[in-house]
Amino acid sequence: MQIVERPSPNHNARPGGRAPDMLVLHYTGMRTAAEALDRLCDPAAQVSAHYTVDEGGTVYAHVAEDRRAWHAGVACWQGETDVNGLSIGIEIVNPGHEFGYRSFPEAQMQAVLALSQAVVERYRIRPLRVVGHSDVAPERKTDPGELFDWPLLAAAGVGYWPDARTVQARLEAEPEADRQSIGRNLERIGYRWPAEPGDAGAAKPRGRTAVLAAFQRRFRPVSVTGTADSETAALAAVVAAAA
Ligand SMILES: [Zn+2]
Repeated sequence: MQIVERPSPNHNARPGGRAPDMLVLHYTGMRTAAEALDRLCDPAAQVSAHYTVDEGGTVYAHVAEDRRAWHAGVACWQGETDVNGLSIGIEIVNPGHEFGYRSFPEAQMQAVLALSQAVVERYRIRPLRVVGHSDVAPERKTDPGELFDWPLLAAAGVGYWPDARTVQARLEAEPEADRQSIGRNLERIGYRWPAEPGDAGAAKPRGRTAVLAAFQRRFRPVSVTGTADSETAALAAVVAAAA
């Protein structure tokens, strides 16, 4: 893995000097890699990440892992709101939904995998603490998005991916019970389950609709609807059982 030093001034101390125990994956959401790297290192932008991986698989190191990088913004996971304070953040170059979302090339995925694997082993990060930005900020964010290859990472011990047969069996077993408890299961996984229902037809999903869409983007990327269908409910029950 080729690592290029590209320091960013945008970081501060981790609270209480504690070691990171989460990994947050992002896409850059800008037209070019150069533009994204400039922004992540610009003191005026007030954003950063520990690493950026470009489409050719080159890794840029911006912030030392023992420092708090500024990538998650207002966020919540498993009841903790200072996600930057607890996590390592990796940016993955991709124009994103705004500028032409496209699949992540093989070389890039292999570099993301190697880097993530090293981070997860170094800090013993548990599978459900490897998340996408959209998981921790569902109303604001859609990255790294439904084209990201989470199963590839999970097969190498990075993050969690549910077994399809287990989900199918669950779907046949208790669909109504799982629909009733979907909010509780999503909370057990780590999502903040909002009081307001949201609207699946809205351009910008909010409330529960946004959380359901984030969960689907992460665990059922072929169909991101924001609605609590039976398959989504069964998936939530299976993933929650791993928490
Ligand atoms: Zn992000």
